[in-house]
Amino acid sequence: MDNQFSPLEKSILTAKGLTAAQLDALNAVGVASRQDLQTVGDAGTLMELVKEIDAATAAKVMEWVTGRATPAPAAQAPSSSVIIDSADIVHCCYCSARQPKDYKSGDLCVACGKQAEPVLTCFWCSASGPGKFCRSCGAEFVPMAELDLGVLLRQEGLPKDEIPKRLRTMSAEEKDLMWGRVRKLRR
Ligand SMILES: [Zn+2]
Ligand SMILES: [Zn+2]
Repeated sequence: MDNQFSPLEKSILTAKGLTAAQLDALNAVGVASRQDLQTVGDAGTLMELVKEIDAATAAKVMEWVTGRATPAPAAQAPSSSVIIDSADIVHCCYCSARQPKDYKSGDLCVACGKQAEPVLTCFWCSASGPGKFCRSCGAEFVPMAELDLGVLLRQEGLPKDEIPKRLRTMSAEEKDLMWGRVRKLRR
């Protein structure tokens, strides 16, 4: 008995524009339930089965049955909150598995068991560890590739908390100049 349009479904189909005669015609070709309509699959086929149904009604009926209608605008709405909490999400640097919400720096990856974050070296005290800040001296880590620049700025007397900020705001040209100085010091 499930295999028939319920009174509600009939009301919905009528609201979409189907007439009682068209519903009977659908029944006659074997479309007697929402499931049957899903088998029909698209508006074109529906119109082939019952020629009296017009295109707009057929489209509305099939949108309702398949649930795939109006795609873009509705789906975009909640994205701003998604961006906010994804900023804190840590992905394992070995297997890219997403770490749980209560993840803390230094935790091992839930998927592969390795240290989920890269271990960085401190430009200030040379200690190394995971996370964003040095556990020995509290300095903010700079990217591995810029460690030598951080060390150079320290040698030039910049305060500990200024160095990561300075590296973030520095232009590519300034960095190139500094790499030149780093290379000279290495000789
Ligand atoms: Zn992993
Ligand atoms: Zn340190």
